Amino acid sequence: MTSDKQPNQTMKVRCCIVGGGPAGMMLGYLLGRAGLDVVVLEKHADFFRDFRGDTVHPSTLQVMDELGLIDGFLKLPHQRLQKMDGLFGGTPVRIADLSRLHTKYPFIAFMPQWDFLNFLRVAGRRFASLKVMMSTEAVDLIRRGETVAGVRAKTPDGIIDIEADLTIACDGRHSTVRERAGLEVEEIGAPMDVLWFRAGRRPDETENVFARVEPGKMMITFDRGDYWQCAYVIAKGQHEAVKARGLQALLDDVTRMAPILRSGITDVKSFDDIKLLTVAINRLGRWTQPGLLCIGDAAHAMSPVGGVGVNLAVQDAVATANLLADKLQRGCPSENEFDAVRRRREFPVKMTQAMQVIVQNNIISGALQGGDRPLKVPLVVRLVTALPWLQGIPARLLALGVRPEHVHSKAAPGY
Ligand SMILES: Cc1cc2nc3c(=O)[nH]c(=O)nc-3n(C[C@H](O)[C@H](O)[C@H](O)COP(=O)(O)OP(=O)(O)OC[C@H]3O[C@@H](n4cnc5c(N)ncnc54)[C@H](O)[C@@H]3O)c2cc1C
Repeated sequence: MTSDKQPNQTMKVRCCIVGGGPAGMMLGYLLGRAGLDVVVLEKHADFFRDFRGDTVHPSTLQVMDELGLIDGFLKLPHQRLQKMDGLFGGTPVRIADLSRLHTKYPFIAFMPQWDFLNFLRVAGRRFASLKVMMSTEAVDLIRRGETVAGVRAKTPDGIIDIEADLTIACDGRHSTVRERAGLEVEEIGAPMDVLWFRAGRRPDETENVFARVEPGKMMITFDRGDYWQCAYVIAKGQHEAVKARGLQALLDDVTRMAPILRSGITDVKSFDDIKLLTVAINRLGRWTQPGLLCIGDAAHAMSPVGGVGVNLAVQDAVATANLLADKLQRGCPSENEFDAVRRRREFPVKMTQAMQVIVQNNIISGALQGGDRPLKVPLVVRLVTALPWLQGIPARLLALGVRPEHVHSKAAPGY
């Protein structure tokens, strides 16, 4: 990080959002729609990065509906998932059935995250007061006394100082902003890491099983049209050991668990085709400082269990706009006023993380440490499989989360 270089440009906005992920792009859209002078900084030149959260849950679809964006959004290529079936030690189980939900969009839409983010970017172009600056990386905070007064950022044209009444960190789980602010992170921990890769899919290859658990092994596959997106779960810190066993040994394990991948697995030619996701669950105790608010993964990194991270980030953005858009019109809210976002969102975050920890400790850890002992399907999974009416409960938690947010922030006249 370089903060010592002097800026060759400056600008002043009401709100500076750092990070153009789901939280930052949705918040930029909402604040732009409210007519606020807002800038979103994204350090990359585009959104095109593979293996990010691609699961758009009904809670996010509902938000897109409330914004009048859903028709265009669902025209983008995507796959829909309603029934989540698995094989637990060879026993078929059903984990959730979203078709049981009384909601307008009872399915998870699988869509490349870059399509989602690009869609928001293009849709937001009609808001004159919203600016998205790509290839612009926040490297430091500007402080006025104890107050955060904006960020210093690196651009292809040099250093820019962006002064803002409110800076909102949406820069993800390795947030530079929260690190520069010195906010303390509480690590909750996770027993696993995940290896992500793609395997080609022929049109005639179909399978409803999405999760497979065997003694010592666990794997998820998603049908993504012309490929299978695969997540192979390993015990925390075992990446080097997996590599030391060699690629073929890993691919043999994969195809033994999921024979459907046999032809497509040839796409994985080296460990370069396999991305390690170091799973983290953590959260900030304090999400704010004077002039600064953190949301999304910057405030709480989520485990991939349930694929909820993107949707929680979007919910944070909606809550932030609901609570602050009006106040920002009138000036800079006090720290206590923007801490309302934490007060509203901390409960859903803690509940969701607690559920993820329960799954991690009771299902994933047990499976990964299982050795050669036969796996017993956990009681709760047996109950959900046997009693279809119960399948709506995990479906509801996955689909809508705890305390779903609805768009209440107003659109500026003409929008
Ligand atoms: C491999 C992987 C797989 C995942 N799978 C799923 C899934 O299937 N479903 C799901 O819901 N969640 C999944 N997640 C989690 C999900 O991606 C995150 O919870 C979600 O993206 C959080 O959104 P966010 O906007 O808070 O942060 P991010 O998506 O991390 O976005 C942060 C953005 O900020 C930018 N940025 C970072 N630092 C700076 C800076 N200094 N200046 C400017 N810009 C900066 C980054 O480039 C990035 O675009 C996965 C995560 C990973 C890593």
